[in-house]
Amino acid sequence: MDTILLVEDSSFFEKAVSRSFRRSDGFELIVGRTCAEAASILKEHAAKISVALVDLSLPDTTDVETVDLTTHHKVPTIVFTSRFDPDLQTRLYGKGIVDYVLKDSPASLSYLRELVLRLRANRGIGALMLQHPDRPMKDVEEQLRRLQLSLVHASTAKEAISEITDNEYIRLLVVDSDIPDISTMELIKQVRLRRGPEAVAIFALSKTLKRTDMVRLLKSGANEVLAKDCAPEEFLLRTGQNLDTIDRILKLTDAANNDAMTGLYNRRFLFEAGTHVFAECRRSNQPIPVALLDIDRFKQVNDQYGHEVGDAVIKHLANDIASICDGNILTVRLGGDEFCLLMPGSTLDAAKERCGALVSRFHRHVHTVDGSPLDVTLSIGLSSGYEDKLSDALRVADERMYAAKNLGRDRIISEDYEMVEDQVVEHVLLDV
Ligand code: GH3
Ligand code: MG
Repeated sequence: MDTILLVEDSSFFEKAVSRSFRRSDGFELIVGRTCAEAASILKEHAAKISVALVDLSLPDTTDVETVDLTTHHKVPTIVFTSRFDPDLQTRLYGKGIVDYVLKDSPASLSYLRELVLRLRANRGIGALMLQHPDRPMKDVEEQLRRLQLSLVHASTAKEAISEITDNEYIRLLVVDSDIPDISTMELIKQVRLRRGPEAVAIFALSKTLKRTDMVRLLKSGANEVLAKDCAPEEFLLRTGQNLDTIDRILKLTDAANNDAMTGLYNRRFLFEAGTHVFAECRRSNQPIPVALLDIDRFKQVNDQYGHEVGDAVIKHLANDIASICDGNILTVRLGGDEFCLLMPGSTLDAAKERCGALVSRFHRHVHTVDGSPLDVTLSIGLSSGYEDKLSDALRVADERMYAAKNLGRDRIISEDYEMVEDQVVEHVLLDV
């Protein structure tokens, strides 16, 4: 839950702001109607307040006392006021506010909401700075801190490249265009080889802003070329726009690669990423068993208890799959009640053991309807781990999964169908 302190004496704006930041979106609003009330709220709750929205004209203020108060408590502060006064605005940025938002139209409320959401998201995002050793960019550093980004410092271009390669949470690189040990263009190109524009935004900061240099920096892959003394508002807007774009791309990628109901990867991702993982195992002669899982007689569950219960069983199985698999295993919902596991580097025995663990976990925690447990089982086919291509492994696993169905369901088959069938025939003959 994010706690917002609203310091506002107008009930009209209080209502409008409360509508923008609802509990259901993870916001808790504490309202102070005077500077004195804000002071006592901060005295008690400053540590848990993530942002303060401050109106300047209050019954007990004559100047910017409330901003002095919130910034003294180190609470990120957004001024939300109807006073348009550029000098005052500059003075307030000097006091460390995040932004100055005018209450001049309904659009300002949505701007405010987007800004607060941006600050919330920024808390999990890293900004890497590479500065000139003799000319640290203190103002820019302060800006990044105000925007709630986690600062990471690199002292050389090499260190910056390695930090950005190893840490996916870094989504912004801010680099002084006059760094000594490598040209900024070269550094940007190197970073771009490792992390594309959909994963990290690059800001080059320049003292001179020569047009030809700007174009060259943009061509090498920078998103923005800014003056080192650019206005805080401009820095805030450009940072917000670039990070918003990355967020949107990540969300779209997530939606394209994941199954919406279970959060597991989808069929499209299996064929895209799985093909590479498979080829890598073949190259290094590592086994890569593939398991195909299908829920037994799932139509009956739907028919007897309804689709909602059916959906719950699917989600339940997906949770069990996620909990028995480590990050190395590709866990996929192929569609309907069919799932697939790609287990790079695992022996067939280890894969069998994992599937066994899944079956017993699924049975142990099976869904209940009106207090009585549902008897739902799984049929699993496992490939050998040494097929040439992903499509071959999927075909083998599929044949074995159907063998499991034909042999009575509720079992794991990891051998060829004929062999298993022979064993069953033998068994039946012996029984007779
Ligand atoms: P078998 O043991 O041979 O696998 O029998 P089955 O009834 O499970 O048959 P099959 O796997 O062919 O059928 C899967 C059924 O899953 C068909 C469809 O109605 C149902 N289904 C597919 N997607 C969903 C879903 O998202 N939710 C629910 N509740 N049912 C689904
Ligand atoms: Mg089925």
